[in-house]
Amino acid sequence: MSRLSGRTALVTGASRGIGRGIALRLGREGALVAVHYGSNETAAKETVADILAAGGRAFAVHAELGVPGDAAALWAAFDRAIEAYGERPGLDILVNNAGIALHGEIGTVTEADYDRLFAVNVRAPFFVVQQGLERLRDGGRVINVSSGVTRIALPVLSAYAMTKGALDTMTLTLAQQLGARGITVNAVAPGIIDTDMNSHLADPEQRAQAASLAVLGRVGEPADVAGLVAFVASDDAGWVTGQILDATGGSHLGL
Ligand code: NAD
Repeated sequence: MSRLSGRTALVTGASRGIGRGIALRLGREGALVAVHYGSNETAAKETVADILAAGGRAFAVHAELGVPGDAAALWAAFDRAIEAYGERPGLDILVNNAGIALHGEIGTVTEADYDRLFAVNVRAPFFVVQQGLERLRDGGRVINVSSGVTRIALPVLSAYAMTKGALDTMTLTLAQQLGARGITVNAVAPGIIDTDMNSHLADPEQRAQAASLAVLGRVGEPADVAGLVAFVASDDAGWVTGQILDATGGSHLGL
């Protein structure tokens, strides 16, 4: 597969989970992948090594998100890394994947947790896009990793769902703004995916319960989301913009 050869992609939070799955897939499809990570350098290097082992091209980029100056730090690290790699500056595909979850009904959410959640899930992608616009080439892609939870009312994920709702709104307004440059902006909205974010899935009973929520009868894997992201990143999706695309195994149908 080489749908994405000649393209450069940056995937935030690509050391593990869905981000790692997306990075591996974009690498397999021929993109040069910037594997962003916040704290786990060893895991990020593993993602890079796995892309290289599959015949792809990749390098790691470090920046902590959710702190003041995060976007500037990320882009400075990206610029340095791409220069060191000997590639032309700029990128074609930006995947805003990094995010954190917070479980708790409205009564239990603290102000500090709320601020942290919005800093990582909303503020960071907003400024990463803002400060990445001059690097993003015309005809490029912005892909935001949202969540299917915005379509259902789940009190235990109240504040988390709000952050993804904000990301969806950003997706729509950005699509409108960047259309003139041929840049598409879309969101992918996963259902329950087997990652560290869902450590409760290790419990067989909870896993079976989660699987029963999807009409396809199983829990999702990072690859289930990565395939959709690769499609949105490809020329095949060149006429698709301003969309929130579910990868939930149809869980909205069963509710
Ligand atoms: P994960 O916890 O396995 O991975 C999250 C990634 O984001 C990690 O690489 C982590 O290092 C990075 N990250 C988190 N905070 C960061 C920070 N402050 N600075 C830099 N990097 C940071 O979770 P995941 O399930 O792979 O989640 C990836 C995305 O998918 C998130 O945006 C999440 O909200 C979304 N999502 C996940 C699910 C699910 O069921 N797992 C469902 C819907 C949406």
